[in-house]
Formats: sequence, structure tokens, C-alpha cells
Amino acid sequence: MPSNDTPSTARRRLMQGAAAGLMTGVAAHAFGQASGPEATGTADAAGLADPRGLHPHPPFPAQQQPWPGLAGRMVPRPDHGETSYVGTGRLTGRRALITGGDSGIGRAAAIAFAREGADVAIVYLPAEEPDAREVVQIIRAAGRQAVALPGDIRSETFCEALVASAVQQMRGLDILVNNAGRQHSHDSILDISTEDFDWTLRTNLYAMFWITKAAIPHMPPGAAIINTASVNAYDPSENLLDYALTKAGIANFTKGLAKQMVKRGIRVNAVAPGPFWTALQVSGGQTMENLTHFGERVPLGRPGQPAEIAPLYVQLASTQASYVTGQVFGASGGAGQP
Ligand code: NAD
Ligand code: MG
Repeated sequence: MPSNDTPSTARRRLMQGAAAGLMTGVAAHAFGQASGPEATGTADAAGLADPRGLHPHPPFPAQQQPWPGLAGRMVPRPDHGETSYVGTGRLTGRRALITGGDSGIGRAAAIAFAREGADVAIVYLPAEEPDAREVVQIIRAAGRQAVALPGDIRSETFCEALVASAVQQMRGLDILVNNAGRQHSHDSILDISTEDFDWTLRTNLYAMFWITKAAIPHMPPGAAIINTASVNAYDPSENLLDYALTKAGIANFTKGLAKQMVKRGIRVNAVAPGPFWTALQVSGGQTMENLTHFGERVPLGRPGQPAEIAPLYVQLASTQASYVTGQVFGASGGAGQP
């Protein structure tokens, strides 16, 4: 989203230069940084990295794809952790189902889960087969079972069938990630048709309800449900009226369901991302103006890459988080959330 050329914007531009190796010691001194900007851009041998210099910064090239969009056609391509995520066996032997696991945040979670030792089933739309195939290959390369479940979750019948198929093929279910989402920008409520409204609510709320209901009877004590909410749950964007209300609903559903699921020993949490560079944003999710300046308004001055949020999903799925339920965790590049 555009912002005025404030000192912080000017500083971000310089930090971009730092990432490209253009920063001079003089400029670093001008910022009064304890650790020089020349240290940004990549992680050192110990994995330490300055988050300001990592990953692409706006402006981004104007681009538009037909919905639902493919990560493989985005410029720059999102980083889902394909080359960077290293597991440490935190989910060994678990069986995970992730909706929207072909691209974006769901794909990053799928890669991380597989490298942590889980078998992973991904749900996606048939039009996303090229993205899904890549994810299936990555899961298999990690030595885990991959299950591909193409279909449209706006159908209750498909939601029930996808859970049954995942349970049957993986011989159980320990982790459910309700992550698939519909986001379509409309400048005014007057432009949102009943069909649009229904599309958003079916994808983001009804499908979560149907899939969760079908999954719970198969999930043992110790299992985890993780829903993807959004900063829009707290601070609705004016162009995402219908979407934002579903995200508030997801956060609320998470907290209520968590109370019920204590009786079954199942933990329920949500992740609320800020701006992340994903296919949803280039396939109607943002105005072109917002897209080219995507992430500019948060303090870090750039969007997150899906790889940067996957560890939250791993943590919430892991038994290490055994006291964590009914919570919503944010990752917004410094933009405040409750
Ligand atoms: P994405 O487009 O990569 O993932 C969304 C996925 O939803 C798609 O890949 C698609 O497989 C799935 N989907 C949508 N409609 C479907 C349908 N009818 N049937 C089956 N699958 C369907 O984008 P993303 O940003 O990774 O989105 C993942 C989640 O993150 C969404 O819930 C989104 O609302 C949420 N989120 C994203 C951002 C962001 O800035 N990217 C911010 C906050 C929340
Ligand atoms: Mg996709």
C-alpha cells in the first residue's frame, strides 16, 4: 500500500540497497545502527540475519493472474522454504491435512511439516495442479507420504470426502490446517454481489466448519487444529469487507472450539498473518496500487515470505506447545496486533 515518502520509507529504500550490497559505511553510520547494514541480506554461518535486509522489498512489478493464481508464475517467486527449511524431527510420524497446501502459506507449512517428519495431504483447486505437483515432489523428497486432494471446498460433499480420503490414505489424522481462503478486493460494499459474498463465506467459514466437523472424530488426543485468520480479523481493510468479517469469524471460532476440544485433548489455535507475498494477492486479492507497494506500510517495509511464517504452524502442531490452545498468533512485520 502506498505511503508518503517519510523518513522511514527513505530508510527502507536504503536498506534495500544494503540487501543488494550497495550500502556504504557512511550510510550505515547515518542510521546509527549498532550492527551495520552490510550484515543484512543473508544469514551468517550461525543463522543470524537482520530481518530488514531479507527478502524482496516493494515496489513489485505490476502483475495479474486469473484466480486462483499460481505461485510458480509470480514475479518474484515466493519463498516457501523450498531450499531453506531444515527440520529437526518435531512432527515425526504425524499425519497432517492442509487446505490450500499448493501455494503460499499452506505450501510453506506443508514443506515444513514434511521436513519435520509428517505425512502431508494437501487440498487445492484443480487449476492449481502445477503448484500442487511441486509440493508433492518436495514432500516425497523429504521421505514422507504426500496425498493430493484436488477439488472445490465450497461443496460440503467434497469437504466430507476429502477428510475421508486423507484419513484413509494416511491411516489417520493428527494435524488439520484450515488455510484455504478467498480474498477479493472490492472498493465499495455496493460492488459486492450476493454471489461474491457467498463465495467468500463458503470458502473461508463454511468449508472450515465442514472440514473440521468431519475431521474431529478421527483426531486422537494430542492432535492439533490450526486455522489461518488474518490481521483483517482486528483491523479490516476497507477494500476487503466480506473477507475481513470471515477472518474475525475464524479467530472467534478458534477460541470457542478450543474450549470444546479440551474435552478431547485436541488443541485449537489460529495464525493471523499480515501481508504475505502469495498468489492470492496477484489474482484479485488487491488493487494494483496496493500490490506494487505490497508490505510497504508495515514497520519492516516489506511483505513476509511464506517461509517466514511456517515455523508458527510447526510450533502449534508440535507437542512442545501442549499448553497453547485457543490463541491467535500474529506475524505482521511489526504492525501491532492484540
Ligand atoms: P494462496 O492463494 O497461495 O493460498 C490460498 C489457497 O486457498 C489456494 O492455493 C487454493 O488452493 C485455496 N482455495 C481457495 N479457494 C478454494 C476453493 N474454493 N476450494 C479449494 N481450495 C481453495 O494465498 P495465501 O496468502 O497463502 O492464503 C492462505 C491463507 O492465508 C488464506 O486463508 C488467506 O486468507 C490467509 N492470509 C493471507 C495473507 C496474505 O497476505 N497473503 C494475509 C492474511 C491471511
Ligand atoms: Mg494456490
